[in-house]
Amino acid sequence: MKTLVMKFGGTSMGSAEAIGRCAEIVRAARAEWPRVAVVVSAMSGVTDALLKGATTAAVGDSVTYQTLVSELRERHTAALAGLADDQATASGRTVVRDCLDEFFSLCHAVRVLGEASPRALDAISSLGERMSIHLIAMRLNAVGVRAKAVDAADFVVTDSVFLAANPQMDATKSKSDALVKPLLDDGIVPVITGFIGADASGAVTTLGRGGSDFSAAIVGVVLGADEVWIWTDVDGVMTADPRVVKDARSLEALTYREVAELAYYGAKVLHPKTIRPVIEIGSILRIKNTFNPTHPGTRIVADEDGTSGTVKAVTAIKSLSLITVEGRGMIGVPGVAARTFGATARTHTSVLMISQASSEQSICFLVPSASAERVVAAIEQEFALELARRDIDKVWSWPEVVIVTVVGAGMQHTPGIAGRVFSALGAAGINVIAIAQGSSECSISLVVDAKDADQAVRELHKLTG
Ligand code: ADP
Ligand code: ASP
Ligand code: MG
Repeated sequence: MKTLVMKFGGTSMGSAEAIGRCAEIVRAARAEWPRVAVVVSAMSGVTDALLKGATTAAVGDSVTYQTLVSELRERHTAALAGLADDQATASGRTVVRDCLDEFFSLCHAVRVLGEASPRALDAISSLGERMSIHLIAMRLNAVGVRAKAVDAADFVVTDSVFLAANPQMDATKSKSDALVKPLLDDGIVPVITGFIGADASGAVTTLGRGGSDFSAAIVGVVLGADEVWIWTDVDGVMTADPRVVKDARSLEALTYREVAELAYYGAKVLHPKTIRPVIEIGSILRIKNTFNPTHPGTRIVADEDGTSGTVKAVTAIKSLSLITVEGRGMIGVPGVAARTFGATARTHTSVLMISQASSEQSICFLVPSASAERVVAAIEQEFALELARRDIDKVWSWPEVVIVTVVGAGMQHTPGIAGRVFSALGAAGINVIAIAQGSSECSISLVVDAKDADQAVRELHKLTG
């Protein structure tokens, strides 16, 4: 029987009214699809608030998390009002109270310990989804769609890499067969927490920020879904972030590779890990707008050759630093690159891009700015001897740079695209600090100073179409 997985993001879960809209969308889909599973994020801003409670508690602040408990209680209680009858609302309030009591206790523990471990952060940040599933499940039942809230910690099995856990698909599939499939068999819509899972010992993990999209893909795989629809607050994937480029247009179709590049290079509309699992089971992926449900949104299609040679979309990743390891004596030192990236890896920092070095005497790469200081210190330690001998002159970071990427599968067949990209930036007086080694031929990435980022995106957006 045909199965549809729909994921509603935080932006679609902002208020009682928005939750009501999601429930209507599920009801309409349920009329067409015999089996529908729903994955939801926390209400918008809630995960941020929970993490703020944890990080402030870690530095001894006992006021902020208490204030947040009241704010979050008010927000969820307001959303609950009017979603369902009194009895259901009362049980919803109990769930919210229990989750917020847990938030309070965990933050208290973090304050006493003076440290928010990754494991504690996951336990705390998972609470938003654990509340939101009840809101939408309640609303669905109230409008006549039989639904049940399901905590993904009960069936999404992951490794123990807190903050960025990886699913273990076989274990997840067998647990899902026991827990989720029977609900679908009974015609019930499972409403599943996005973002979270649990490791083999039962400790709650998260898949990383924005990870509910990935959750939808995981659920899609274990249920063998025919389609996975990601519902958000814009008309699908657009030619650029509409918050930056006012005349960004929605794209009717994108190939898997194009959307993978866009997601990897910062288009927040889709978490980068979502795409691969969905392709592997050959199911259809769509991005749609909760606030404009009749709009077709974007359909992600199989890769095709020979599409027309235009830039399809532009994206950017902000808050990065460019790390440079530089020295005239470097050529003679064996394994510089391996040791540089080894030292970086030991700080648990992922490298976003390795840029084309301007000469053999330097290695440049990009890391999130928050990790830059740690990375520089680790590399300095690794090369202490070479620095003393002046084989390596210095290790330094250029703070606040941005990667701007243009994407389009047809670009590889079209000569002159790179030239047009550089001329567009040159004409606008924007300095290109480095060029990326493209991870595939369907994108070109450039590094520019943060102050030029939005303008660079707008200039390059003129090349789309
Ligand atoms: P959700 O809560 O539904 O997961 P997100 O905030 O994570 O929503 O993602 C949707 C947002 O992604 C949009 O509101 C938009 O500002 C941003 N975005 C960035 N780049 C793009 C793009 N190329 N197309 C569409 N949206 C984009
Ligand atoms: N609520 C989580 C976050 O804010 C997951 C998601 O929204 O996808 O990161
Ligand atoms: Mg998101």
